[in-house]
Amino acid sequence: MLSIRKMRQTKQKKLIEEEIKKIESFFTAEELFHKVKKRDNKFGIATIYRFLRDLKKKEKLHSYLCNRKIVYSKDASSHCHFICQKCGEIKHFDVKSLDFLKIQESICHFQIDVHGTCKKCLKEK
Ligand SMILES: [Zn+2]
Ligand SMILES: [Zn+2]
Ligand SMILES: [Zn+2]
Repeated sequence: MLSIRKMRQTKQKKLIEEEIKKIESFFTAEELFHKVKKRDNKFGIATIYRFLRDLKKKEKLHSYLCNRKIVYSKDASSHCHFICQKCGEIKHFDVKSLDFLKIQESICHFQIDVHGTCKKCLKEK
């Protein structure tokens, strides 16, 4: 027989999974927490963090550092920034694969930060 605690955990897990399914792009743990909390106010953020950590271990979720925040994605396996050193603007761009690296390891996801001067700042020079 399932204990009440176990049943509650299963219910929580289902709820989080449902909410993640609805998200189309990158999200933070706080954003997910607010969505889940709306449906069940007994949720604690620690549960969300634990769940996100488990999904990351299973390679079902990828995490990146975006503008000093940790963001998660269920499908995008890369997250790339062009960061302007003059005005601080951050632009996102896509890199599909790292085949050129020729490494033996299995890549789950990657992040690239490119620093330079944006088009706008180049014109103002
Ligand atoms: Zn990953
Ligand atoms: Zn970003
Ligand atoms: Zn700039």
